[in-house]
Amino acid sequence: MRVDILSLLPGMFGEVFDHGIVRRARQAGLLQIETHALTDWTEGRFQRADDAPYGGGPGMVMRVEPLVEAVEAIGELDAAEPRVVLLSPRGRQLDQEVVAELAREPRLLLVAGRYEGVDERFTGLTGAEEISVGDYVLSGGEVAAMVVVDAVTRLIPGAVGDSESVVQESFATGLLEHAHYTRPPVFRGEEVPPVLLSGNHQAVRRFRREQSVQLTRNRRPDLFRAFAGQREPASKPNPDTKERSS
Ligand code: SAM
Repeated sequence: MRVDILSLLPGMFGEVFDHGIVRRARQAGLLQIETHALTDWTEGRFQRADDAPYGGGPGMVMRVEPLVEAVEAIGELDAAEPRVVLLSPRGRQLDQEVVAELAREPRLLLVAGRYEGVDERFTGLTGAEEISVGDYVLSGGEVAAMVVVDAVTRLIPGAVGDSESVVQESFATGLLEHAHYTRPPVFRGEEVPPVLLSGNHQAVRRFRREQSVQLTRNRRPDLFRAFAGQREPASKPNPDTKERSS
């Protein structure tokens, strides 16, 4: 997969992709990341990346011309057409399903906003989709782009050493993941659940599964309802599910 990132502050990406799984994926040739400075498209004709908002109001808005020209030029750098993503708090919220969808693309072009955001015409002109990393406002899209790259990389086949771990972890199954323990078996009186030391794999699997279900029920009732709804047999109508799908 190739990921291009367009930003006013490309220096922020400095080391972040040089560690752990992302680094290994790059070294293995599974992932190519290219960062691009928006200023490369502002120093000529357009002079600046931002301007005051029409209609007044606080802050500045990123101008549409350099953004569109940059996206077009970056698109040309590879034969694969990129899926263009504008990081935005107004976007579709990133979750593991969206991550999996993005991980299936051969190429992504992530656009990081700054200031009050980007001129609204940008998305229409480039076909960019807006993606949010959560219901809070960051000062720029760079950190959000890092989140997307990190989460997507885990799902590139071959990027994670033990591929079972991405199958089992939180959200992949519709549930939060069970707890983990390692040595020592007792620390300050806190014991590892004995079943995990029993060597009985079936019992361990059952214990972990029950823990996952309990954790999800207690911490994320929204996820739990969706999970329980999916498991209802087709012959037995579930009023909850019916209500949600209508
Ligand atoms: N004025 C905007 C609003 O109220 O929706 C917030 C702009 S924010 C200060 C600047 C940039 O940070 C945005 O253009 C976007 O690229 C990025 N950003 C902020 N919060 C984000 C989030 N939750 N998810 C993705 N990107 C975000």
